[in-house]
Amino acid sequence: MTYDLVIVGGGVWGSAAAQAAVRAGSSVLLLEANIGLAQESSAKSGGILTDLLWHPEDQAFVRRSRELYAEARETSVDVSVARKVGMLTLAEGEHGTALQHRTQDLRDRGIPFELLDRREIVRRFPRLDRLREDTVALWTPNDWHLNPTAYAQEATAAARGAGLTVRSQSHVDGIRLEDGKVSVQAGGAMYEGHRALIAAGTWTRKLVRLAGLDLALMPYRVQLSSLELGEPHQLPIVWHLSTDVYLVPDGEKDVLAGDGTRLSEFDPDDYQTSGDDQFEEEIAERLLMVSSLGERAGLRSSWAGLVGATPDRRPLVGRLGDRLYVACGDQGIGVMRGPAIGELAAKVALDLAEAPHLRPDRFPPEPFEIRPGFTLD
Ligand SMILES: Cc1cc2nc3c(=O)[nH]c(=O)nc-3n(C[C@H](O)[C@H](O)[C@H](O)COP(=O)(O)OP(=O)(O)OC[C@H]3O[C@@H](n4cnc5c(N)ncnc54)[C@H](O)[C@@H]3O)c2cc1C
Repeated sequence: MTYDLVIVGGGVWGSAAAQAAVRAGSSVLLLEANIGLAQESSAKSGGILTDLLWHPEDQAFVRRSRELYAEARETSVDVSVARKVGMLTLAEGEHGTALQHRTQDLRDRGIPFELLDRREIVRRFPRLDRLREDTVALWTPNDWHLNPTAYAQEATAAARGAGLTVRSQSHVDGIRLEDGKVSVQAGGAMYEGHRALIAAGTWTRKLVRLAGLDLALMPYRVQLSSLELGEPHQLPIVWHLSTDVYLVPDGEKDVLAGDGTRLSEFDPDDYQTSGDDQFEEEIAERLLMVSSLGERAGLRSSWAGLVGATPDRRPLVGRLGDRLYVACGDQGIGVMRGPAIGELAAKVALDLAEAPHLRPDRFPPEPFEIRPGFTLD
């Protein structure tokens, strides 16, 4: 059988692309190296979805992703697919001023928010008891916590009966572009598609190289830890701009704390997947800058994952070679935008949409300065 579209990579992006392509009436084969979907970066993420992204296109991606996550939540038995928990962005000094400047943009977009002074922050969230006098906070109550793995399962579940074939434990190790079709080799088997979409996260560059192509994608490393606080914390998602630490509630008494970003290039097949000693030592100390909960915080575990940088921090979506398309370049904010970008990528691959400004060949495949994606600018 020759599929309309072969998708390589079953993370949030590839799963969303598969769903969108099936909805457009295509036959789709989704090849995933792991035993289950969304077990790599998507599973390692903090799961934050926020409207505090400043690029208008990202704001639109988040809006569309919200709709797709909400749809999955409606049909899934797993209520953790998407939960409204709210996010508190804390800042002091210059960062505080920068944060206040951003409120006009939120107002213009109709995003609910409140600007809180230190007294009001502590009144609402008493465990934030170590804040500096000049701390201000932006409270965005509609921000969500996501479970990307549950989303990927749900997004593909309905599509499986409607034109989607999923092959897990299928590690792609060969791609050939031939006249009129793409041949993809995985686990000793050969599959054919009229077109192929590589949505393999930070592995995407290695995969397109199998077809003799290349692109400007540099994987960098981010870290997260699970901290046991030993008592109920009643915290929302907290992002402390001055230390660049974020906390994500993980049950009543635990939080996930990140980020320990290392802005240099890593190999997705050869990097340390546990947290660095230094990150583990510092993370509770950094928590102490906002809360005394850090005093008794115990480290349950820590891990590192890779995210993909591009020269302009915008995703790479579109045609790279004859019948070969890609979707990558998440900049560490790919769970919150993933369903929308995956959908767009599928539509571009099927000639149902255009995104010339995201063309994957808009940069030469050369080294560039890696800059983080989740920032205030
Ligand atoms: C610690 C950490 C915290 C993060 N926090 C957030 C957050 O709070 N909010 C947010 O929006 N984003 C966050 N991110 C980023 C987010 O996780 C990524 O942007 C997102 O998961 C990218 O999804 P993806 O589908 O492109 O990649 P992935 O989830 O990595 O999926 C790629 C898939 O391709 C498969 N694959 C690779 N090679 C092959 C092959 N040869 N053959 C077959 N399959 C292959 C892999 O197995 C994998 O399943 C975080 C990331 C990390 C690491």
